[in-house]
Amino acid sequence: MSLLELKNVYKIYGDLHALDDVSLKVEKGEWVSIMGPSGSGKSTMMNIIGCMDKPSKGEVLLDGVDISKESKKNLTNIRRDKIGLIFQQFHLVNYLTAVENVMLAQYYHSIPDEKEALEALDRVGLADRAKHLPSQLSGGEQQRVCVARALINYPEIVLADEPTGNLDEANEEVVVDLFHKLHDDGTTLIVVTHDPEVAEVAQRTLVLRSGKLSKEVVNENFTGKIRFD
Ligand code: ADP
Ligand code: ADP
Repeated sequence: MSLLELKNVYKIYGDLHALDDVSLKVEKGEWVSIMGPSGSGKSTMMNIIGCMDKPSKGEVLLDGVDISKESKKNLTNIRRDKIGLIFQQFHLVNYLTAVENVMLAQYYHSIPDEKEALEALDRVGLADRAKHLPSQLSGGEQQRVCVARALINYPEIVLADEPTGNLDEANEEVVVDLFHKLHDDGTTLIVVTHDPEVAEVAQRTLVLRSGKLSKEVVNENFTGKIRFD
């Protein structure tokens, strides 16, 4: 059984098909990129996979459970349990420190544990920034806090929507290196990106056009250990 399967998924707004009969499978431990022009349905798809929105039609199976049939409340619980989210705009709470932001994700999931949150920050190389507020951190550091927040509850899938969109090249490499680490640890990664350099390190790239999957590019060179030089 695939970890994630979309079966004939549609998202329809009036007469606009934001997603138009999308079917795909993602296996456990896979690393998949999603590309496509602006307006092609990437965010719509991520919102549905991330349990933040429901399709108009079709099935979305996560661990064999059709999440398109779940109530809003259940969707929130499934999201907190199984999904780690990373956004372009970070979405950190600005009056909480780095470690408190990570602990907030624990709070919504189970019980906050500062030691574990500090370990997560250490994994992203930010142990010495734990008590800083987001405003005292660079963009790259803020995105690393987001990665720590996304991985703290050992999610089955990490979904990243333009995770390097606000970062310079050096920080982009740091974030991609963290994705390699997550992937090496067995985490399933789905990354929406406009940046071919970020996309092409994944195992495969799916391209959306006008709400339809138009192309799949398999990375024949993928070894799981490719790093930026
Ligand atoms: P992308 O992330 O690829 O830029 P989106 O998924 O954001 O694309 O949008 C896909 C299409 O759906 C766009 O044409 C967008 O305008 C439309 N759309 C997205 N959300 C809504 C909404 N809430 N109401 C109406 N149209 C929407
Ligand atoms: P176009 O014809 O407009 O260049 P394509 O359909 O060829 O678009 O590709 C769509 C998207 O897929 C582009 O954004 C491109 O960067 C990306 N892409 C194409 N080939 C690869 C590849 N080998 N690895 C990763 N991404 C790719």
